[in-house]
Amino acid sequence: MQYTPATDRYDHMTYQRCGRSGIQLPALSLGLWHNFGSIDNFENGRSIIRHAFDKGITHFDLANNYGPQPGSAEENFGRILKKDFTGHLRDELIISTKAGYTMWPGPYGDKGSRKYLISSLDQSLRRMQLDYVDIFYSHRPDPDTPLEETMGALHSIVQQGKALYVGLSNYTAEQSEKAINLLKQLGTPCLIHQPKYSMFERWVENGLLDVLENHGVGCIPFSPLAQGLLTDRYLHGIPAGSRASRPSGFLQEKEITPEKIEQVKKLHELARHRGQSLAQMAIAWLLKDKRITTVLIGASSVAQLDDNLLALQQTAFTPAELQTIENILRN
Ligand code: NDP
Repeated sequence: MQYTPATDRYDHMTYQRCGRSGIQLPALSLGLWHNFGSIDNFENGRSIIRHAFDKGITHFDLANNYGPQPGSAEENFGRILKKDFTGHLRDELIISTKAGYTMWPGPYGDKGSRKYLISSLDQSLRRMQLDYVDIFYSHRPDPDTPLEETMGALHSIVQQGKALYVGLSNYTAEQSEKAINLLKQLGTPCLIHQPKYSMFERWVENGLLDVLENHGVGCIPFSPLAQGLLTDRYLHGIPAGSRASRPSGFLQEKEITPEKIEQVKKLHELARHRGQSLAQMAIAWLLKDKRITTVLIGASSVAQLDDNLLALQQTAFTPAELQTIENILRN
């Protein structure tokens, strides 16, 4: 059936400026790492994307290797765009992709060379049937390639009109400082940094967030729900169909330890006292920091997406609640 986007789609979402750029991003962004590959149900993915847009999520995050099979999430997203986001709807979307992890065999299908980044983006554009992406990322730092070369490739990509903005992902505070300065010198400012950040993964608090704030660069944490651990998904074991149960999922069963589940149960209890689900509290906990531009979630169903969207209704914490969270995480 023909998709007509909800007319009130901009009424309930919060948009936050990305660093000191002109771009505003929705408080929640949707990632296509899992659930959109060739092994997944296409219509389910399609309904999640439509629903996200209906709720004001304008930002969709991909990478060359998302699938499985690698590349298939971009292909499926391209098909969804062709079917549902015709005409000028493209201008209402922020679409991101990346290169940096292994994509094809041989020395030119991995890491941070100019050769890899530029040819990978060309492939991504073909798969998504797009002329340009809004944000292109160096997916990870490559110690074997001079940073000047990787940043130079990002700059060229923008000059060529294949991306409007560039970003960094998984770069440490020190690497980010250098890369951001190089990009500044080239005249292509770094828009955004995409690090792993959740209650269970706090490394960004030791320097990276300060670097980003100083340079006016936005921050989009990935895996904010620790791939589902920071939800009610695993409170009573590993349910069939969950990421941890799937052979292609990146959440390993061995990461779901009794100690972790003890913490999750306590966090779940606190969330209930706040009148939220744990997923909502985990998202709100990130958004309470004004340096966080948008939280990059994943979802395997429309119902999960709806649950997560409700996080935006209550992002404030009392000092006592924050202290309770720290105490739970410390034990
Ligand atoms: P999350 O931590 O948000 O985990 C998403 C998963 O959690 C869902 O697929 C679902 O798993 C479960 N879930 C989500 N909402 C709920 C809910 N309300 N209740 C119960 N379970 C829920 O994020 P991801 O790990 O998926 O990462 C998000 C995005 O970040 C990716 O799609 C990608 O775009 C980006 N990313 C970037 C990386 C990088 O290196 N730059 C690396 C990894 C991710 P289930 O399948 O079990 O239902």
